[in-house]
Amino acid sequence: MNICMVGTGYVGLVTGAALADLGMDVICVDKDEAKIRALSSGVIPIYEPGLEELVARNERKGRLRFTTDLKAAIENALVIFIAVGTPGRPGGAPDLTFVRQVAEAIAEHMNGYKLVVTKSTVPTGTGKMISDIIRAGNGRFEFSIASNPEFLREGSAVNDFLHPDRIVIGASDARAIEIMKEIYKPLFLRETPFVITDVASAELIKYASNGFLAVKISFINEIAELCELMGANVQDVATGMGLDRRIGPRFLLPGPGFGGSCFPKDTSAAADIARNFGTTFELIEATIRVNARTKARMLEKIEAAAGPIAGKTAAVLGLSFKPETDDIRESPALAVVEGLLRAGARVRAFDPAAMDNTRAVFPDLHYAADAYDCAGGADFVVLATEWNEFRALDLARLARAVRSQTMIDLRNVYDPGELRAAGWNYTGVGRS
Ligand code: NAD
Repeated sequence: MNICMVGTGYVGLVTGAALADLGMDVICVDKDEAKIRALSSGVIPIYEPGLEELVARNERKGRLRFTTDLKAAIENALVIFIAVGTPGRPGGAPDLTFVRQVAEAIAEHMNGYKLVVTKSTVPTGTGKMISDIIRAGNGRFEFSIASNPEFLREGSAVNDFLHPDRIVIGASDARAIEIMKEIYKPLFLRETPFVITDVASAELIKYASNGFLAVKISFINEIAELCELMGANVQDVATGMGLDRRIGPRFLLPGPGFGGSCFPKDTSAAADIARNFGTTFELIEATIRVNARTKARMLEKIEAAAGPIAGKTAAVLGLSFKPETDDIRESPALAVVEGLLRAGARVRAFDPAAMDNTRAVFPDLHYAADAYDCAGGADFVVLATEWNEFRALDLARLARAVRSQTMIDLRNVYDPGELRAAGWNYTGVGRS
């Protein structure tokens, strides 16, 4: 089956390569010529474990190609996936400009029946909007609309796509459902649950899921704050809560607040969607406020541990919004960097994958060669993203590099007792 993937970013590239791996003929389109040039010559523009091999294997088999020629890709495809960005606008509403542009291009270039599938996270009603644009621009050919939201996580995207908890398909008609089932048949045979519904419900499932996860994160962050005030241990509280199967242990890790390209944007969009329908999504509104406060609280913790920050040098370990990715969009680590700079500190930073992206935003930080180089001459260490290589640092070597043995561990990677016994002035989150 010929598939056209419009938008070759974190989602489009992983989805395109993985669908090729499931046996589809996929052409990935992007308007970013440099990206397509790089991909065509075997260079993967993002850091994502397992992706390079997946892309190379499917290119070799002739099932995966890259182009900027949207017209030809639309003409050749039966199914067109839209995986372009839907960034948040200042009021919270997602910007659907790119989605609209693709719908207009489909209307202009379609040459027969097409199934148009949104992979991008879009608000309820976008499927109808796409349908209206295509119908207005092309009355000649039949088409179907489907919503197939994506739940992959950066850092484990390839595995998540090929082993999902569920596949959600919202479709306008039976033909669309049959084609979508055919595409995902290999996963269906592996007993992946399918949720088949209408387009609007599928669109909402994505916001409801991300919103719920964001609530869970903010909930444990507020519990962490309570623990600090009460002298309790948030990790024990989380374990005690998480063993209740109705709650579950995942997403109960306290930290510097949620970030990334999805949760901040999708919670704001969910709040905006509710407002557009004349109601208030109270829990989501509160979650957004709690997250902002959590981020701000991290700087207070640093000041409490390290003393007045102005004139000091901070060593920040980790810049990406989570481990195993180079994505720094809305990264809590960067909020920490920004806060430190605003408070008058100098920042030395190290991240295994995200330094190039960070350099574009903060060109004046000192970018170190590794964690020890980062700590060299710094007054204190802030562990901001829990990359595996920060979990087993040689703490004696780190202590020799840093000027005062102070660590603010915003990810609770280290054991407070052990570090204090080794002479560290150690601060975690929710473990006073
Ligand atoms: P991204 O910014 O990495 O990639 C989007 C790509 O679309 C870019 O390469 C851009 O050049 C391209 N593009 C934009 N307009 C185009 C057009 N008219 N024609 C061709 N290409 C065009 O974004 P992403 O992180 O892959 O996210 C894409 C969508 O998937 C968003 O709606 C996002 O919310 C959703 N999503 C993201 C994740 C994630 O973890 N990143 C997970 C699930 C869902």
